[in-house]
Amino acid sequence: MSLIVRVFSLMLLLLCSHSWAVNSVKGVRIWHAPDNTRLVLDLANAPSHKVKRLSNPSRLEIELAGVNSLNIGAVTGDSPLVKRVYASRTPSAATAVVIELSFPVSDSIFSLPPSPPYGHRLVVDLKAQGSASSASQGAPVSSAKPAPVVSQPAQSATSSRVTGRDIIIAIDAGHGGQDPGAVGPKGTHEKIITQSVSRQLAAMINKQPGLKAVLTRTGDYYIHPNKRPEIARQKQADLLISIHADAVQNRKAHGASVWVLSMRRATTEVGRMLEQTEQHSELLGGVAEVIKDSANERYLAQTVLDLSMNHSMVTGFEVAKEVLREMSTVAHLHKKEPQAASLAVLKAPDIPSILVETGFISNYNEERLLKDPNHQHKLAQAIFRAVKGYFEKSPPADSLFAAHKNNGRSVPTVMPTAQNRSTAVASSGNRTHKVKRGESLSRVAKQYGVSMAELRRHNNLKSDNILIGQVLRIP
Ligand SMILES: [Zn+2]
Repeated sequence: MSLIVRVFSLMLLLLCSHSWAVNSVKGVRIWHAPDNTRLVLDLANAPSHKVKRLSNPSRLEIELAGVNSLNIGAVTGDSPLVKRVYASRTPSAATAVVIELSFPVSDSIFSLPPSPPYGHRLVVDLKAQGSASSASQGAPVSSAKPAPVVSQPAQSATSSRVTGRDIIIAIDAGHGGQDPGAVGPKGTHEKIITQSVSRQLAAMINKQPGLKAVLTRTGDYYIHPNKRPEIARQKQADLLISIHADAVQNRKAHGASVWVLSMRRATTEVGRMLEQTEQHSELLGGVAEVIKDSANERYLAQTVLDLSMNHSMVTGFEVAKEVLREMSTVAHLHKKEPQAASLAVLKAPDIPSILVETGFISNYNEERLLKDPNHQHKLAQAIFRAVKGYFEKSPPADSLFAAHKNNGRSVPTVMPTAQNRSTAVASSGNRTHKVKRGESLSRVAKQYGVSMAELRRHNNLKSDNILIGQVLRIP
C-alpha cells in the first residue's frame, strides 16, 4: 500500500516538475514570403504563452512561462514587417519576447511539437493588413522573373507570322523556409534541390517561345501545400509541376518517379510514405490552415466528379508519361509508370498537375547526384523536353503552339539538343524564330548554328537590326 502511495506521489512530483519545466529561448528565425512573415521561436521545452498586442510602437509581447533568462539567442533572417526582436520583463516580472513591428499587422500564433531537425517551437505568423500595404512598405512583391512579353509580330512580318498566347507552366519547388523536406544521409535538404531544379526548369521554359513559367515560390520560404495550387490558379496555369526528392527508411531505394492525382488513395507503400511526408510538412508548417481547410477538402471531393477534373487527370497522366520517358534518358526510374496519389499539391481539380520525385535523397549515391548542378540541369532539361513535347502534340486551342501546329510547322526550338532532333528534322527547311526581347541577330544566328550572313540573306535583311516579335526564317 505504502509503495503504491509512494509511486503515486513520485508520479505527481514528475508531473508537477514537468509542468513547471524551466524553458528557454534558443533562437529566433524569421522567414519573409511575398505576402507574409513567419517568425519561429525555438524553445527548449513546450511553450506556455500569453500574448499582448500593444501600440506606440506596434508590438507583440509574448510572455513565456518558465523562461528566466533575458537572452533570446541568435536572430536569423529579417522582414520588412519586423523592426526588432528583444526580450523584456513584464510588470509581473515574467520574461517576454517582444516583436516590434514596422506597422500594425494581423497575427496568428501557435506552438508546434518537435519534428526533426527542429525542437519545440512557437510560430508567429504576421500578415500586413490589406495586401496592397505590403508593397508600399517595401516588401518584395514578387521576385519572380519578369514574364517574357508576348510580343506582337512586327508590322513588316512576312506571311509566316503566327500568334497565340503563351502556355503557362506553374513550377512548384517543394518545401522551403522552415520546412526542409527530406534530409539526406549527408544532411542535404530537399528544399535546396527542389529550388535549384525548379529555377533551371523555369529558365528553360522562359526561353522557349510560346511557353511561360511561373514559380509558386521564388525564394527559401514556406508555402502550405494547399496554397500552391491556388497560386497556380491565380497565374492561370495550364500545368502545375511540383518538384520533390524522395526519402524512405530503406537507403537502397533509388530512382525517379512521377505522381499524378488519383481519385482513390494511393495503394503502394511508397505512396503512403509520400503522403505522410506531405502531412508531415502540414504539421510543420500551418496547423491553423489544416483546420481551415476541412471544408475545402469536402468541396474538392465533390468536384472530383467534375468534367474539368477528368480533363486535368487525363492531361496530367499524359504529361507524366512524357516526363518519365524523358527522365529515363538521364536517371534511373524507381517506377516506370505514373503513380497515383492523393496529395495536397495535386488536388487542383481544374489544373493538370504532376509531382516529380527527382530521386531518393535518402540514398547515398542519389543524394550526391541530386546535389550535382550538372545532374540538376539534366533533370530540368528532361522535364522541359517532356513539357514542350506534350504541348506540341496537344496545345491549348488559343496558344502559339496551336497556331504553329495548324500552320504545319513545329514551334521554333531554342534548345537544339539530341532529344530535340525529331522536331528539328521535322521542321528542317521550314524553321522560324520569333525575336524576343534582348535578342540580337548574332545571338539568334549562334542559337541555330548559322552565320549572320546566311540569316541576313535568307530573310532579305538590309541591316543587323531586328525587332521584337519579328519572325525570322532559319536557313
Ligand atoms: Zn517533398
